[in-house]
Amino acid sequence: MVLVRNLKLTILSIGYCFENMKAAVFREYNKDPLQVVKIEDIDMPKIKPNEILIKVESAGYNYNDLWAIWGEPVKTPLPHISGSDVAGVVVEVGEEVRNFKQGDRVVSHSNMSCRVCDMCTSGREYDCPDRSIWGFQTGPLWGGFAQYTHLPEVNVSKLPDNVSFDQGAAISMVGMTAWHMLVGRAKIRPGQTVLIMGGTSGVGMAGIQISKLYGCDVIATAGNKEKMDTCLGLGADSVVNHRESDWYKKVRELTNKQGVDVVFEHIGKSVFPQEVGLLKMGGTLVSTGATTGYDSAIDLRYLFFKGTNLLGSTQGTKAELDEVLYWTNKGKIKPLISTTLPFSDMAKGHVMMANAEQIGKILTTPHKL
Ligand SMILES: [Zn+2]
Repeated sequence: MVLVRNLKLTILSIGYCFENMKAAVFREYNKDPLQVVKIEDIDMPKIKPNEILIKVESAGYNYNDLWAIWGEPVKTPLPHISGSDVAGVVVEVGEEVRNFKQGDRVVSHSNMSCRVCDMCTSGREYDCPDRSIWGFQTGPLWGGFAQYTHLPEVNVSKLPDNVSFDQGAAISMVGMTAWHMLVGRAKIRPGQTVLIMGGTSGVGMAGIQISKLYGCDVIATAGNKEKMDTCLGLGADSVVNHRESDWYKKVRELTNKQGVDVVFEHIGKSVFPQEVGLLKMGGTLVSTGATTGYDSAIDLRYLFFKGTNLLGSTQGTKAELDEVLYWTNKGKIKPLISTTLPFSDMAKGHVMMANAEQIGKILTTPHKL
């Protein structure tokens, strides 16, 4: 009996070599994901000597998946598989891979960089001129919305025991991005007041929890009552509705008219001037996006007279991803998950993302159709 079971396991473990796999593929750009994203049978990926083959148990959605499907603002390689966040199990390793073996639980690190330039070797892989985001700029047919995918060893982290596949896929990119913004760039300290814009977005929910981990006072913003309550549940000390025209006045009142030390920004044009006005002398605004528009104005007097720090931030380092996974394993960062879609319905997740219907991350499970 044991022999039969072992034989079955062996057949299962090598079976993928001879099979196709299912993947969510689009072959042309379209504003409506439902028109072009289809589940197809395609060839299993073949790994290079430095790569790992991963059975994808859970894959997370990000806004860059929509840019890829739209073909705006960047044309992605076609045919395309989106998906920059996966968690799963190692099924094969290349001959040069040192730190992973079959059966390891892993999560993707989507920031692909050259690892040899001045930026990379000084620890700034996010500033690498050859940087690309896996699942967005890579391809053809190289992303996470597939039953199996492959990544270089350097783009894979081990998933700690207490972090589920869904949690890993939900936190990897947004957690790393938020960590880099707050810890890597803004260098938050205990006692500071941090304003987290869009507190129930992927980066926002991580931003609230990381700021609390660092002993900061957190004021979060959200667009409706349900989202505001979610922010408080994540640990925010107070919350305001950023859809109300006087939202910034309420933030100022909450700080006894002192303003905030750090603004965590990814919303863009609709709120940027007010955010800059809310900073204390020598305060810091750190930005990682501009969902409502990028051509914002700034009163330069706020910049020089108040000694304002305006910082940009994109992605993060693999070490920062590992920090996030460490604290997720400790239960100090709890990924906020909205829903997990069966793979056959995965295109609906893109529509939910576009309509901002969800609170927290959307996931899909490629092996559960
Ligand atoms: Zn580089």
